[in-house]
Amino acid sequence: MNQEYTVDPTRLVSPDVTPADAEEVSLRPKTLQDYIGQEKVKANLSVYLRAAQRRGEPMDHVLLYGPPGLGKTTLAGIVAQEMGVQIRITSGPAIEKPGDLAALLTNLQEGDVLFIDEIHRLSRQVEEVLYPALEDYALDIMIGKGPSAQSIRINLPRFTLIGATTRAGQLTGPLRDRFGILLKLEPYSPDELARIITRSAAILDVPVTPEGALELARCSRGTPRVANRLLKRARDFATVRGDGTIDAESAIDARKQMGIDALGLDELDRSVLRAIIEMYSGGPVGLDTLAAALGEESVTLEDVCEPYLMQMGFLTRTPRGRCVTRLAYEHLHMAVPKTLRDDADDGQQSLF
Ligand code: ADP
Repeated sequence: MNQEYTVDPTRLVSPDVTPADAEEVSLRPKTLQDYIGQEKVKANLSVYLRAAQRRGEPMDHVLLYGPPGLGKTTLAGIVAQEMGVQIRITSGPAIEKPGDLAALLTNLQEGDVLFIDEIHRLSRQVEEVLYPALEDYALDIMIGKGPSAQSIRINLPRFTLIGATTRAGQLTGPLRDRFGILLKLEPYSPDELARIITRSAAILDVPVTPEGALELARCSRGTPRVANRLLKRARDFATVRGDGTIDAESAIDARKQMGIDALGLDELDRSVLRAIIEMYSGGPVGLDTLAAALGEESVTLEDVCEPYLMQMGFLTRTPRGRCVTRLAYEHLHMAVPKTLRDDADDGQQSLF
C-alpha cells in the first residue's frame, strides 16, 4: 500500500501500558491529595472512605470505568493506602479458571483490596464464583461429580473488590449490580495534565517551565499516562538538543520530532483522516474497508484512534460508516468541501 499510510506500531500517544512505562510505578500518587483532577470522583471517594473507616468495615465494592491511562490502578492503590490494607492486583484475562479466583480470594487478609483490571474480560464461569464472594464473602465449591456432587461453602475474609474497565457496557448486568460504588473517570483538562507533568518532573528531577508543561499537556490526549511518557521523551530531547530544561520551545521541538501535532495527533491519526478524505471523499466509509486500506487491524483503529478523533470532533460514526468533519479538513490544512462549508455556515450563523 501507499508508503504514506504505513505506521510505526509503537505509538507514543497510545494510552495503553508499554514496556517504556516501567517508571510509572514511581510516578503514581499515593494519596488522594496527590491525585490531581477527577474532583468529583475524589470528593465522593473520600466520603466513602471516611464512612467505611468510621464503621470499621471494608469499603463497598467499587467499579471504576473510563479509557486506559486515566488513573484507575492508581486510584485503587490509593484506596488501599488510605484504608491501611494490602492491595492484590490482577486482571480479567489472568484469571483463567474458577480455581485461580478461589486461590486469590482465599489468600486475602481481612479488609484487603482486590483489584481486577479489565474486569469485563472475566469468563462466565469465573464470574459465577465471584458473585457469592462479593455478596456474602463466601465461596461455593462443588465436590465430586454427578448425583453425588456436593456443594460446600467456605467463608472468606471481608474484602473490597475494585474492578476497572474501559468498557462498562460490556459488563454483565449481574456483575455490575454487585458494585455498590460506580465511578467514571473523565479525560483530564490541559491545566490538570500540566500539574501532573510538573509533579512528575519534580519526581524525575527534570527542570520544566510552566509553559513547557502546558505545551506537553495540550498534546497528551487528556491522559496522564501519555503525559508522563511525553515528559520523559521531551527530557531526552531537551538534554541532547538544549540545556536540559523543558520550556515551551523545547517541548514544541520534542513533539515535532516525535511526529505529534499540537493537538496530540500522531501519524496514524492523521493517516486515518487523510485516507478518509483522499480515498473516500470524506466518507462515509466502513471501518473494515478503511482498516484494509491502511493495512491496519479494524480493532486498532476502533480502540486506538477513533476515541480521540471523535472526542476532538474530527470524526463521526454514522450508520453507513465513518465520516470526517470540517474540523478535520481545517486541522490538516486541506480545502473544506462545499457541502461541509455550507452546513458549517448554517450552524455558525445560528450560533452567533
Ligand atoms: P489506568 O489504570 O487507568 O490505565 P494508571 O492508574 O495506571 O491508569 O495511571 C497511569 C499513570 O498515570 C500512572 O503511573 C500515574 O503516574 C499517572 N496518573 C494517573 N492519574 C493521575 C492523577 N490523577 N494524578 C497524577 N498522576 C496520575
